Amino acid sequence: MSDTPYFDEAAKSATFEPDGQFNIIGVRAFITSCASIADWMDDLYMELGERFVDSRLYMSARRAAKRTVSALLNEFRVPNDSQAKEKFFAEFYSAIGWGQIDYRLDYANKSGQVVVKNSFLAQGYATKFTADGRNVATSTKSEIARCTLLGAYLAAQVSDFLGEEIEMIEKQCAAMGHGECIFQVSREQ
Ligand SMILES: [Zn+2]
Repeated sequence: MSDTPYFDEAAKSATFEPDGQFNIIGVRAFITSCASIADWMDDLYMELGERFVDSRLYMSARRAAKRTVSALLNEFRVPNDSQAKEKFFAEFYSAIGWGQIDYRLDYANKSGQVVVKNSFLAQGYATKFTADGRNVATSTKSEIARCTLLGAYLAAQVSDFLGEEIEMIEKQCAAMGHGECIFQVSREQ
C-alpha cells in the first residue's frame, strides 16, 4: 500500500536527529526490535501471570489509545466516515510497523472481527535478536495470545468507527502458530 497518501505521510515524516530525538509526525518516538519487547513481556508474564499482565496492559493501553484515535484523526484530517477511517488506521499502523490491519466489521450489527498480519508483538515472540544482530526464528509456539496491547488500540479505533464503546478480544494469535491474529468485537473484557 506504498502508493497511498496516509502511509506515505506517516512514513516520510520520520526524522532522525543527531541529538537522539527520533520523531514520527512530530511526535517523539523510539525504535527497538520487536524481539526485545517480547523479551520484556516474557518476564512480566512469567512473574505476574498472563491474566494480570493482560488486564493491566489492556486497560492502560485502552485509555492511551482513545486519546491517540482522536489526535490522529485530527492531525491527518480524516473524513468522518467509517470507510475513510478504516483506510487511515490500516495505512498509519502499517507505516509505523505495528502490522497489517484488515477490519472485517459488521456495521449493521456492530460486531465483527479485525485480522492483523505481522503483529509486532507476535513476530517479536517468534524471533530472537541474537548477538550477531540477526532475527532468528525460534520455532516455539506460545500457549497464550500475545497481542493484548494491540487489541486495546483496535478497540479504541473500532469504538470510534461504530460510535459505541466496545472491546476487542484476541481469539487467535500468530504467536500460537496461526497465520494471523484475529480479534473479536466484544461487550466484555
Ligand atoms: Zn497476536
